[in-house]
Amino acid sequence: MRTEPDLVLIILKIRQGERLSPEEGLFLLERGDLLTLGWLADEVRKLKHPGGIVTFVIDRNINYTNICLCGCRFCAFYRSPGDPEGYLLSPEEIFRKIEETLAAGGTQILMQGGLHPELDLEYFEELFAAIKARYPICLHSLSPVEIDYLARRSGLTVAEVITRLRAAGLDSIPGGGAEILVDRVRREISPHKTKAGRWLEVTATAHRLGLKTTATMMFGSRETLAERIAHLDAVRRLQDDTGGFTAFIPWPYQPGNTALGGEPASAWDYLRTLAVSRLYLDNVPNLQVSWVTQGAKIAQVALAFGANDFGSTMLEENVVRAAGVCNTSSAPEIAALIKNAGFRPAQRDNLYKILKYY
Ligand code: SF4
Repeated sequence: MRTEPDLVLIILKIRQGERLSPEEGLFLLERGDLLTLGWLADEVRKLKHPGGIVTFVIDRNINYTNICLCGCRFCAFYRSPGDPEGYLLSPEEIFRKIEETLAAGGTQILMQGGLHPELDLEYFEELFAAIKARYPICLHSLSPVEIDYLARRSGLTVAEVITRLRAAGLDSIPGGGAEILVDRVRREISPHKTKAGRWLEVTATAHRLGLKTTATMMFGSRETLAERIAHLDAVRRLQDDTGGFTAFIPWPYQPGNTALGGEPASAWDYLRTLAVSRLYLDNVPNLQVSWVTQGAKIAQVALAFGANDFGSTMLEENVVRAAGVCNTSSAPEIAALIKNAGFRPAQRDNLYKILKYY
C-alpha cells in the first residue's frame, strides 16, 4: 500500500541533510505551508551559504537576433524570418554593447538569440574569436537549444560543436530553453524545440568537456506540479553525474503578447517553487532570484525562501521585456536591495568567485 509523505518526517529529513524523494517534493509543492517552506529553504541556504552573503554579477544580455525558426508558443520575443521587425545585430553593434558593459564594471555577457536560418557555426566561431581578441570579458553564451541547432545544421556532433566554440572563446553556457524538461509539456508550448532528452544530452556534453552551465526552469505555463518535480529531478540526476551546474534559476512564464496566453504565476506560486527548488536540488549550490520577472520587492522576499544570488544586473534585457515586463537595475541599486533585505551584497564572477563586497 502506498503511504502518503508525512510533513514532520520530511522536515526531519531536510534538517538531517537527507535527500527528498519525488513524492516528498510533490507533497511540499502541493500542500506545504508557504512559511514552512520558506523557513526550511532558508535553513538550507544558511548551511550552504553562511554569513548572509548574497551575490550578483554585472553583465548584459545581448540578444544578437530575434529571428527564429522555432516558433515557441510561449515566446513574445521572436520574429519569423522575413518579418519586418526581425533584426540581426552587426559585430560592431555587439562590440559597442560589450564596451558599455565593461565601462559599467561588467565581467560577462550573456549572448542568446533565436535560431537564425543564416547563422552557422563558423559565424559564431568568428564572432567569439573577434570578441576575445578585443575584450577581457567572459562569454556566457548560446543555450543548449542554440548549440543543438548548430550541431544539426552543421552535421557535426554536439561535442565537436562545443569544442570548436570553446576554442573560439566560449567560457560557459546559460541553461536557457529548458522550460519544463518533460516532452508532454514541450509538445504543447514549444513543439519544434529541442526535446528534453536532447537538452540534457547537450548540457551533459558541455559539462564533460569542462564547461560549467546553469539550469533554468520556466514554470506556470501548462505543466502539472508533478511535471515541475520531474524537471527538478532531471536536473538533480544530471548534476549527480557531472557536477557541472553552477546555479538553478526558476522563473515564471510571462504570458503577455504570446500565442499561448494565460495568466502569470502568482508571487505565492513563485516563492513556493523557489523554496522547493532549494530543498529538492541538494546538489546545486546556487539558487537565483528572478527579479526581472518578479520585481525588486518580491526578489527581496525571495532571499528568505532559499535564494542566495540576485542574478545579474541585466544592463540590457529584451526577452521578458517583449512580454510586457520591464525591470532593469544597476549594481549599486541591486546592492542596496540586497542590503535592505538584511544580507551582505557581493559582486561575483561567472564561477561565483567573489570579486567585491559592497
Ligand atoms: S524561446 Fe527561443 S527558440 Fe523559442 S521562439 Fe523564442 S527565441 Fe526561438
